[in-house]
Amino acid sequence: MQESGTSDPGLSGYPVIRKNRESLKLPPNLGDYEQERASFSWDKARTLLDGLPDGRGLNIVHEAVDRHALGANAGKVAIRWLGKAGEQRDITYRELYEETNRFANALKALGVKPGERVFVLMGRLPELYVAMLGTLKAGCVASPLFSAFGPEPIAVRMQLGDGRVLVTTPKLYKRKVAAIREQVPGLAHVLLVGEGEAEGEGLERWDRAVGNASADFTIAPTDPEDMALLHFTSGTTGRPKGAIHVHEAVVAHHITGRYALDLHDEDIFWCTADPGWVTGTSYGIIAPLTNGVTSIVAEAEFDAETWFGILERERVSVWYTAPTAIRMIMRMGDDVARGRDLSALRFMASVGEPLNPEAVIWGEQAFGMPFHDNWWQTETGGIMIANFAALDIKPGSMGRPMPGIDAAILRRLENGGVETIDEPMVEGELALRKGWPSMMRGYLHEEERYRKCFIGDWYLTGDLAQRDADGYFWFVGRADDVIKSAGHLIGPFEVESALIEHPAVAEAAVIGKPDPTVGEMVKAFVTLRPGYEADEAMRRELLGHARKKLGAAVAPKEIDFRENLPKTRSGKIMRRLLKARELGLPEGDISTLESDEK
Ligand code: ATP
Ligand code: MG
Repeated sequence: MQESGTSDPGLSGYPVIRKNRESLKLPPNLGDYEQERASFSWDKARTLLDGLPDGRGLNIVHEAVDRHALGANAGKVAIRWLGKAGEQRDITYRELYEETNRFANALKALGVKPGERVFVLMGRLPELYVAMLGTLKAGCVASPLFSAFGPEPIAVRMQLGDGRVLVTTPKLYKRKVAAIREQVPGLAHVLLVGEGEAEGEGLERWDRAVGNASADFTIAPTDPEDMALLHFTSGTTGRPKGAIHVHEAVVAHHITGRYALDLHDEDIFWCTADPGWVTGTSYGIIAPLTNGVTSIVAEAEFDAETWFGILERERVSVWYTAPTAIRMIMRMGDDVARGRDLSALRFMASVGEPLNPEAVIWGEQAFGMPFHDNWWQTETGGIMIANFAALDIKPGSMGRPMPGIDAAILRRLENGGVETIDEPMVEGELALRKGWPSMMRGYLHEEERYRKCFIGDWYLTGDLAQRDADGYFWFVGRADDVIKSAGHLIGPFEVESALIEHPAVAEAAVIGKPDPTVGEMVKAFVTLRPGYEADEAMRRELLGHARKKLGAAVAPKEIDFRENLPKTRSGKIMRRLLKARELGLPEGDISTLESDEK
């Protein structure tokens, strides 16, 4: 392990969290970051995978399931499913192999052709996993939909994605699909999982179609560039986009699982994300399986008691979750983990939104280890920037780029080009040099929108960031959310993090509100921890606290208290919605908004 030589704590001002052998329970897969960065190549990463037998190409599911099922891991538990009502089902790699073979055979029997789209709309049931993986085996394209979507978002996505097959439950079909069926004329087959009745054209029972199919299947030759997954973005900034990913993406899923999540053979891994979002597929399904570990799949939604029960009882060793869940747990106070046996836990990571430095540090207090923030997008298909197990953490920084990933801060030029900003801590657009395996290959049916993401060799992410002298990246905000106030560019994240440091504040969201003198005025929406009063005295105290931390130019001028903040179903604060409501403007696409906010 190297000394990473980090001295400057960077933006947040929090002390650096040093890593050394004693603080790590296992030697990290990525022990020497600099050396691995220097010698890494994607071709080399590809050699960690097997490829289809006889040089027939590369298929995600061969790497995730078949090679384990037909080798030493056959009897190992691939997925431990924990049902809402306390049920448990262990699915070994061998069983997953057979089940996914049956599913692929069932698609074939229905006449579904390679390349056609199979949508999956259901809670985190075992069949969801079988359907996603079996679809890829059959050479079809899998598109997971979050089960809490209403009829309209389902229709829009299935139309855009040309859905041919839908796998769902009778209940969801009746409640959400029956009424919009006519809007998706190409939908020929619906496979119904579980109990209950439903009526409509092309309805088939899973038990019959899949249950009776043969457990033998040979994956057809698969070109690494064949389309595999269609993922819709979270819709935080506007209408969700359908990002196209190909089988080659598995090269990135696998190596990021090893390096950024530090997966080791003996790990019990729990990714809390729903496969309806890219995290729940890339890291809730593919990466743990290609790495041959045991994954926990919990059907229940977030509830602190249940979650701690899972961490403890299942002896989870690597936990991948999201800031919104971490903040919810933080609200409960420092001793939430006390009395729990979490001795198996050795690595915690977070993604989806900026992780406030306060939360990183709190991990150490409550769990005896920090949260490792990492950054990526639906479009990037896998983790791009991360706090790696062996590297020191600067709380509030999203870490350093994966080996093989060239990340830069860019400035746009008037001639339409870009230049890299090399001075440390200067804000610009976060960009990645094209060419990693899990990069999206397009936004489905939106050529122009896709084309606009690229300038020259660079993919522009739409996020603003800074890089410090040690090569750590700091998230500033989404380009759309950045506030221009009296000549300053203010990133909402910095202001929100300062507010969260106040003991009364549970969550904060900051927007720019048009103002005749300063252009945009900083306004904050705040939720309080239990036991604090949302009154005028509190407002004044928080305004003062922020001014002291941030200075008058950056601190919010207005604070409103809220019971809840509007969030996407993937748990991201929707600042654009707060802004639209504040200004009385149309709300735009709210298909991914959590229903209690609608
Ligand atoms: P849409 O593109 O539809 O507006 P979205 O960008 O929220 O939605 P995702 O692809 O799910 O959809 O999210 C990726 C975005 O989430 C990133 O571009 C970034 O803004 C944010 N994000 C993810 N991880 C982090 C992180 N660790 N720190 C800061 N921001 C993050
Ligand atoms: Mg986005």
